Amino acid sequence: MRILVDAGSGSLANLQKYVSIHDLDAIWISHLHVDHCSDLVLAYYLAKYGISQREELLPVYGPPGWHDHICRSSVSERSLADFFQVHELHDGAQVAIGSTTVLTAIRTTHSVDTYGLRVTDGSATTIAYSADSASCEALGRIGHDATLFLCEAAVLDHSRESPANHLTPSEAAEWATRANASKLLLTHVRPDSNEKVVLELAGTLFGDEIHIAYEGDVFTY
Ligand SMILES: [Zn+2]
Repeated sequence: MRILVDAGSGSLANLQKYVSIHDLDAIWISHLHVDHCSDLVLAYYLAKYGISQREELLPVYGPPGWHDHICRSSVSERSLADFFQVHELHDGAQVAIGSTTVLTAIRTTHSVDTYGLRVTDGSATTIAYSADSASCEALGRIGHDATLFLCEAAVLDHSRESPANHLTPSEAAEWATRANASKLLLTHVRPDSNEKVVLELAGTLFGDEIHIAYEGDVFTY
C-alpha cells in the first residue's frame, strides 16, 4: 500500500526517489497549513503534465475545503477533479484501501481543522500519525497500541504559543506511553532544536524505542 501522508515543501521531490505518483494508492492531507500541503498542487501538475499518465483518478483525502484551498494556491486551476478524486475527512472517518488496509481519521487540537491518522493492515501492525496537535485526548486514540507512532514534537516548550498548538517531546512521550505504542518516532522537530535534549526529554518518559525522524529514513514492518 502506498500512501503519501502530508505534502510539505520538498516531499514530492523526495517521494519520486522511491515511487511514481502514478503508483500511489492515495494521498492524505492532515490539515491546510502550508508546511503540510504546499506540494499537493505540484502533485497535481505532475499527474497532469508528467511524462507518464495515470489511468485512474488518485484519491486525495483532506480536511473540508481542501480542494478549493489548493485551487486558489495554484492560480490557474478551478478544479483538480480531472486527476484527483476529492474526499473530505471528518472525525472518525474510515477509508478502506485494497482488501485489508483501513485508514481512520481522528481530529486533533490545532489552530485549524486537523486530522491525525491510524493505518491498520488487518494484522497486528498499526502505524499512527499525530499530524499537528496540542496535547489532547485524541492522541491517545490515534496512537492506541500502535506499532509505530509518528508523533510531532515541534516545540521544546510553549513559551511562544498561546494557546498551545504543538507538542513538546515530553508531551509526545507521555501520549505514546498512555497509548501503549511500541515505538515512538518524533516528527516535526525543528532544525534548531538540540536533538540530544529532545531525545532526553522524551526518553525520560518513554524509554529506548524512540527516534527522531530524519529525511530519507526508512522503517520496515
Ligand atoms: Zn499545523
